Amino acid sequence: MHLRDDRAARGPTSGVVLAAAVACAVPLAGSTGGSPAPTSESATSATVYDGARLIDGTGMPAIESARLVVDDGVVTAAGPRDEVESPPGATVVDLTGKTVMPALVNLHGHVGFQRGLTYDAANYTRENVVDHLNRYAYYGVGVIVSLGTDAGDIWSDIRRDQEAGTLGGARLFTAGRGLARPNAGPGAAALRPSASGVTSEEEGRQYVRELAAQGVSFVKIWVDDRGGSVEKLEPALYRPIIDEAHRHGLDVIAHIFYHDDAEELVAAGVDGFAHLVRDREMDDALVAAVVEQDVFVMPNIGISERGRHTEPPPWLATPILAETVAPAVLARATDTFASRAADAAERAARSYEQMERSLAKLHAAGASLVLGSDSGVQDHFYGFSAHRELELMVAAGLSPMDAIVTATSRSADRLGVDDSGRLSPGARADFIVLDANPLDDIANSRRIADVYLGGTAVDRAALRAGWTAQNAAERSAAAQDEVR
Ligand SMILES: [Zn+2]
Repeated sequence: MHLRDDRAARGPTSGVVLAAAVACAVPLAGSTGGSPAPTSESATSATVYDGARLIDGTGMPAIESARLVVDDGVVTAAGPRDEVESPPGATVVDLTGKTVMPALVNLHGHVGFQRGLTYDAANYTRENVVDHLNRYAYYGVGVIVSLGTDAGDIWSDIRRDQEAGTLGGARLFTAGRGLARPNAGPGAAALRPSASGVTSEEEGRQYVRELAAQGVSFVKIWVDDRGGSVEKLEPALYRPIIDEAHRHGLDVIAHIFYHDDAEELVAAGVDGFAHLVRDREMDDALVAAVVEQDVFVMPNIGISERGRHTEPPPWLATPILAETVAPAVLARATDTFASRAADAAERAARSYEQMERSLAKLHAAGASLVLGSDSGVQDHFYGFSAHRELELMVAAGLSPMDAIVTATSRSADRLGVDDSGRLSPGARADFIVLDANPLDDIANSRRIADVYLGGTAVDRAALRAGWTAQNAAERSAAAQDEVR
C-alpha cells in the first residue's frame, strides 16, 4: 500500500484541501476565543444553527440540542447549544425538532448519460452533467465521484468553476476515463466507449500518466468478463496499472464480479473495490486480506437488490422521487419490476443474500466500508440511490450511525477530501436538515427539509419547479407525437 501522504502529489484534490485549510484558519481562531471582539464595522458574517439534533459524521454520539456555527462556508464551532458561544450579531436559524447530518459523499456514480427516458453518450453535455450535480445536491449529496466514464474535458471545466465558486451543485470528482480491455469496460452500451482499452503494459502505464496529468481523483479499472462475453483485464496488465497509479499518488478502484479476481487484486495492491464480490459469499481469507491491506469496499448493493422484486417496491412511491424523476421514467422503472420473471427474481434474491452476508462479515471484521451507489446507471436515480444504500446497509446489519459514518467522513477520507463528510470545526458547511431522526429509522435520511452546501442553502424549490416544468413540457411533446 502506498501512503496517504502520496496524495500531496495530486493537483486539484490537494489544491482543494489546501484552500480550505487557509480559509478556515481565521474562523478557527475565532472559535477558540483568539479573535478581537466584533465592532459595528466588523459585524460577524456567521450564521448559527440552533437546537437541532447533530450527527457530526465522525461516529461521535449525536448531540440532542446542538449549536452549529458557520462562517464563510466553513464550520467554526459545533457542540451542545449551552457550551458553544453564539458570535454577537450572528444570524440565528432555529432548527428545534430537526436533525442535522453531513451531506453524503458518494464515491461511485456515472454523471451525464441519462436525460428523461434516453440513456446515451450524446446526452453527455455540460448542461446535463450540471443538471445531475443539482439532482445530487437536492438529495443532500455534497460530493459525487463519477467513476471512470468521463471522457473529454467537460468535467475539468466544471471542477474549475466549482472551485472558483461560480458553479454550485454537488462537487464533482472523477476517475476520468477508466481502464479495461478494449470494449470491456462498463456494462451499459452507452457507457462502454467511455473507457480506454488497454492492450499492453506500456499502454496501461501511459493512460495512467495521462490521467494523473489531468488531475483525476482515482484510477478505475474493470476486471470482469461480463459472464464470458468480453475479455477480462488480467493481472499482467492491471499490476503495472496499479504500480503506475501509486507512483503518481493515485488510488486504484476495481470493478469486480468474481471472488478469484478480488483475491488477486488485493494481492496486487488494489486500493478499493467498486462492488462486492457477486459470484459467491466472500470467504474469511478474503475478508481478512481486505482488512489487512486496508482495501476500501463500496457495498453498492442497491442495483442488485432491485433484481429480487417482481412487483414495484414501496420505495418507488417515496414522495421525494416524484419531485425529481419524470413520471414516464418512474413508469418505466415500475414496469421493469412488474415484468420480471419469478425465477430470475429468485436467483437474484439468493445472490443478494450472499452479498448481504459478505457485507456483514466485512463490517464485523472492521473493513473500511464507503458509500458507492452506482447512481446514473439507467434509472438508478441520482441522489436517491445513495439513500437507498444507507437503508440497505442497515438492513444488512450496520447500525444507522455506522451507515452514516460510512457515507460521510469515511468516504471523504478515502477520497482525500477530509474537509468534507463531517461537521467539525474547519470542515465545509455541507449538511442536510432532516424532519426526522435517521438514527431511529435510516429511511428518515430522505425526509429532507433543507440542504446546505458550503454554507449556502440549495434552492430546492427552484430546482423542483424547473424539473416539474421540464417534465410537463416533455409530456405535452409526447402527447403531440401521439396525435400525429
Ligand atoms: Zn459503476
